[in-house]
Amino acid sequence: MRYECELIRDLLPLYQDGICSPSSKTAVEEHLGECDGCSSYLESLRSGEEIEQVIAAEKNEALDSQKKFFKRRSAVAGTIIAGIFMLPVLICLIVNLAVGGAGWFFIVLAAMLIPVSLVAVPLLAPENKGLWTLSSFCISLLLLFAVVCIITGGSWFFTASTASLFGICLVFSPFAARSKPIASRVGGHRGLAVLGLDTVMFVLMMISIGITGGLGLGYYSLAGRISLPIIGLVWTIFLTVRYLKLNRSFKTGICLGSASLMMFIHELLLDLSANSTSFYIRTDSDRYVFGTNILFGAVLMLLALIFAGIGFIANRNRRKEK
Ligand SMILES: [Zn+2]
Repeated sequence: MRYECELIRDLLPLYQDGICSPSSKTAVEEHLGECDGCSSYLESLRSGEEIEQVIAAEKNEALDSQKKFFKRRSAVAGTIIAGIFMLPVLICLIVNLAVGGAGWFFIVLAAMLIPVSLVAVPLLAPENKGLWTLSSFCISLLLLFAVVCIITGGSWFFTASTASLFGICLVFSPFAARSKPIASRVGGHRGLAVLGLDTVMFVLMMISIGITGGLGLGYYSLAGRISLPIIGLVWTIFLTVRYLKLNRSFKTGICLGSASLMMFIHELLLDLSANSTSFYIRTDSDRYVFGTNILFGAVLMLLALIFAGIGFIANRNRRKEK
């Protein structure tokens, strides 16, 4: 025999997986033809792998059946919980029918849907539990607003709905955007989708407040002047940080600069309406002083220029190195 058994046995696992070099392969095969001990060692290696495969298959089967078991149990628990919540609804329906009167039973029904959406839906939903819970919670909340509004003859439905949805979006839309069905649609633009949704909800809320309150053009003009510069700043910072291909100092400069610009624009827009004198030099107990916002804005602008300068120098140095 040209090679020692020890050497060949070291090579056998590689040989079995088909990843050894052609020359090792020839050496192993040559040796196996001559050595019964190494041939049976190879056999034992093969059967060991088979056993591993059987164990893995059994493990997967056990996990699957356990998963199914828990799914079934949570579905049963969800149904029972939903049923328990519906008991008071049933009692209220009977009492409401017995005494007659306005349909306050519907208020109870709609109110009960909220805990059901929070407790039973996560147990009943087969997958995307978070998204199902959030959606069913929002729908039951809107339903409750609608029912109470109709029964009490209120006109605040749209204001309450848009304000609640805006708040919910602000907190939960970043999490919802991570769920499979939404993430697969928005791809790498999750932040854009979340900020877009928040902006739309905010605008809807402001419009609803104006309509419900019967407020005139003055309200929309003031609301726009207060909120548009802030929304613009949020968008500028987001787009700069997320999408602009510049170095960090430049980006910091742009963000600080736009914050400063926003403060000036804000002051200017408010001054147009409210006779506020904060933008201009004003007399304050016979002394000329600047509005504090303007001073703060000027400091921000100075910082922005410093950062942009650092970014510019860093860029030029990098280009020189290349
Ligand atoms: Zn051998």
